[in-house]
Amino acid sequence: MSQGVPTEDVENEMNIGLSSYHPLAFAAVCSLSARCCWSLGAMESDNLAYMELAIHQAKLAMESLEVPVGCVFIKDGNVIASGRNRTTETRNATRHAEMEAIDILLEKWQRDGLSKAEVAKNFSQCVLYVTCEPCIMCAAALSFLGIKEVYYGCANEKFGGCGSILALHSSSSESFISDEVPQRKGFKCTGGLMASEAVSLFRSFYEQGNPNAPKPHRPPVEKKVE
Ligand SMILES: [Zn+2]
Repeated sequence: MSQGVPTEDVENEMNIGLSSYHPLAFAAVCSLSARCCWSLGAMESDNLAYMELAIHQAKLAMESLEVPVGCVFIKDGNVIASGRNRTTETRNATRHAEMEAIDILLEKWQRDGLSKAEVAKNFSQCVLYVTCEPCIMCAAALSFLGIKEVYYGCANEKFGGCGSILALHSSSSESFISDEVPQRKGFKCTGGLMASEAVSLFRSFYEQGNPNAPKPHRPPVEKKVE
């Protein structure tokens, strides 16, 4: 499963504090994962094209020294929002790519004067393409918003909310919860779309050295050569 990744080195690089993205998980779990139900035969070129756009967003994140994750929201075949991880720039651990794009949409639809019902209807017609499995926070948000469908690249074994840790896409809120409380809805979710591209971005990011990784507490001790 390690696929040649230098596990210990990567592990040391992972504790970046500001983000719950977990590169070891991404590197360790990719398109060969049993969770990935996507297959070459079923893949549509549209899906690839949309995921390419998400990968482009992830590359923009990497150019900004952010953990490379990107996404796009598609409605009626059109890209209506894109997002990239901005946790370092904003010094806010919640500014994942999905949250960036969701906020763009919410602000736009608020400006347009849409009602709650209209916003909900719009989200129910949206498909999200994101380069790695949404974390628990993002998967919960997508579930509350009632998104129609999600395609992701590689799995997020440490924090994933679409099967890796929790399966928020596969269940709705319990029916006994009162109408006053927002209800979660399940959504269709498919992983493994361009997973190797997503993983190689993480590899590149961590191999070039993560500038946000914590500094060692002590300077390295030089070993004396006898
Ligand atoms: Zn997230």
